[in-house]
Amino acid sequence: MNMELMEYGAAAKLVNSYKINSIESKYVKNAQEALLFSKGKKIVLKVLSGKALHKSKMGLVKVGLENQKEMEAAFSDLSKKGKKFAPYKIIAQKMAPGGVEIIVGGRNDAQFGKMILLGLGGIYVETFRDFALRACPITRFDAKSMIAQLKSKKVVTYNGKMEAQLEELLLKTSKLLVATKLEELDLNPVIIREDGYDVVDIRVLR
Ligand code: ADP
Ligand code: MG
Repeated sequence: MNMELMEYGAAAKLVNSYKINSIESKYVKNAQEALLFSKGKKIVLKVLSGKALHKSKMGLVKVGLENQKEMEAAFSDLSKKGKKFAPYKIIAQKMAPGGVEIIVGGRNDAQFGKMILLGLGGIYVETFRDFALRACPITRFDAKSMIAQLKSKKVVTYNGKMEAQLEELLLKTSKLLVATKLEELDLNPVIIREDGYDVVDIRVLR
């Protein structure tokens, strides 16, 4: 099957159109543009390339940049590293406040059709392999049972407010998956907090 990686801006627009909150992002051509984008707040700079699937492992993600000096150093290092993955772009993102990292994913499975996945994200993905899978579309009951199924349920949602948010996110993602013809969708991670969440990395294959 011939799959194509959707450009990040288009992928972000797609998820936002389902009211899934992806963090504010902008492609930048130099450190000055990054500084303007930051408006005095911390930002993240990343190399995006179809040839670099695991950005942080390859040193292509710089988090918590807060001043011109840091942004200049990060931009110059990323431009150097990016050349190995040409064509590439550098994207600036607002820095999500601390929270728990989860994965919300979707697949168009040859055998089972459209599936949605919820799992613990971040550095624990490989360690715990803790996830829940359902066929789409899911109901609110399914969303609740996906959350309940996780061994890390208490880490992912430590109160009712977080649980309600996560349910909404799962329902919206299921809606998106049903309405589109995507092969794969990865929101990895979604950084979730008591008062909200931010999708900071999106990968869509169509
Ligand atoms: P990859 O999955 O390709 O390594 P990500 O874009 O997911 O790259 O970034 C890796 C990690 O960096 C994330 O899991 C998260 O911990 C952190 N990170 C990335 N973007 C942001 C952001 N905008 N705000 C806060 N943390 C971020
Ligand atoms: Mg990621």
